[in-house]
Amino acid sequence: MRQTVRPSKAECTGCGACASICPKNAITMQPDAEGFCYPVVDPALCISCDLCEKRCPVGAAHEAHSVQAFGAQHKDAAVRAASSSGGVFTALARGMFARGGVVFGAAFDDCLHVEHIGAMDESELAGMRGSKYVQSDAADAIANAAALLSRGIPVLFSGTPCQIDGLLARVRGKEREKLLTVDFVCHGVPSPGVFASYIESLERAHGQRVVAYAFRDKRLGWKNFSSVATLEDGTQLSGTQTDEPFLYGFLQNLYLRPSCTQCSQLRGARHLADLTIADLWGAQDVCPERDDDTGLSLVMVNTQKGRQALREAERELTVFPMRTDALLRYNPSLEQTATAHPKRQRFFAMYAKRGFDGERVMKLLASPGRAERIARRIAHLPAGALRRARALIRH
Ligand SMILES: Cc1cc2nc3c(=O)[nH]c(=O)nc-3n(C[C@H](O)[C@H](O)[C@H](O)COP(=O)(O)OP(=O)(O)OC[C@H]3O[C@@H](n4cnc5c(N)ncnc54)[C@H](O)[C@@H]3O)c2cc1C
Ligand code: SF4
Ligand code: SF4
Repeated sequence: MRQTVRPSKAECTGCGACASICPKNAITMQPDAEGFCYPVVDPALCISCDLCEKRCPVGAAHEAHSVQAFGAQHKDAAVRAASSSGGVFTALARGMFARGGVVFGAAFDDCLHVEHIGAMDESELAGMRGSKYVQSDAADAIANAAALLSRGIPVLFSGTPCQIDGLLARVRGKEREKLLTVDFVCHGVPSPGVFASYIESLERAHGQRVVAYAFRDKRLGWKNFSSVATLEDGTQLSGTQTDEPFLYGFLQNLYLRPSCTQCSQLRGARHLADLTIADLWGAQDVCPERDDDTGLSLVMVNTQKGRQALREAERELTVFPMRTDALLRYNPSLEQTATAHPKRQRFFAMYAKRGFDGERVMKLLASPGRAERIARRIAHLPAGALRRARALIRH
């Protein structure tokens, strides 16, 4: 009897497709010690049909396809302010509502847990706007989207490239006809357990609940974004990419999911979604005349269906052609997978003992590692000693 789906944890993206495919509901997604969810099989229910493993999308090689790239910005300044980049997602979602469809995307629940939900109108869309730098729980949404499509209801599903991979493992053949998929250029996802522990640390320090959280507050500008935690009494705690511990740890790859360092098949011209959206980082150099620092999106069109959806959304957007090769040095995630921070293990050892401690995280990231300490010492040696040290290292 199987206990999980993938023998190697490093491969599993946690997309949840296996849980939604199992005909006996024998699979649940459960958090490990790092706070990431993995499938766990109930041996009492498993009938060894192996459908979970057969349909798991991990490891498949994806063919590169031709990509048309555009820069885009929503015409409404309020939409741009509430969105992470240029607000393209909102224009696409409204196109889906106009067709009578349902939009799936990631939103916070009341406990600041990030999960995928379905929206049928504008009021339900608001919570989906804005990037949440935490892995979203999408297993139920994949099952719900599949059920709607089987009844002929159009669906827009937006998520990480691996969530789209999981959705496409679940939805096949004719049922894909009314499905529009939107993914993004993906740096990787931090642990939901670490984020929950970080929120608890803020609540302990301030003696009240955190009622809202934004990772991409644009009050300091789109490029200099900051995160803002709102407390019950309305106090706002904000920090920038360099001084707010959770955001800083995320950008330093301190607590990304292990699979995020292995997903080269979901980048560049290999995205499976109809459309891939991203921040148009580098706009100040590549298209300065378009950059007002309120947010610009990069849109990569991967399929005909995607091209048609973008054309319909152009009513709400300013769209202009763009070359992605010029953007690679500003947005490495376009082509490269993240490398885990060398102190990732030390962080999780610390996390196991005391949970998320912002001060210790900043100290951990500030202090040099062993290799760096040795390199610094060598650099300060006098020339003769330096030659002897190098000779010693070579032997
Ligand atoms: C974890 C993560 C890493 C990213 N890394 C990069 C990067 O390296 N380079 C880059 O250019 N862009 C990256 N992005 C994408 C970028 O931040 C914007 O989300 C994207 O440009 C869309 O912006 P928008 O203004 O069109 O839409 P917005 O209105 O900001 O819409 C956000 C969309 O993202 C979805 N979303 C938000 N959080 C999550 C989540 N945790 N899991 C799944 N879906 C989510 C929502 O459902 C919504 O559809 C990342 C986003 C996330 C969530
Ligand atoms: S289907 Fe998704 S969650 Fe299940 S084992 Fe494969 S990658 Fe992991
Ligand atoms: S980096 Fe890759 S594995 Fe990680 S969330 Fe993004 S698409 Fe999935």
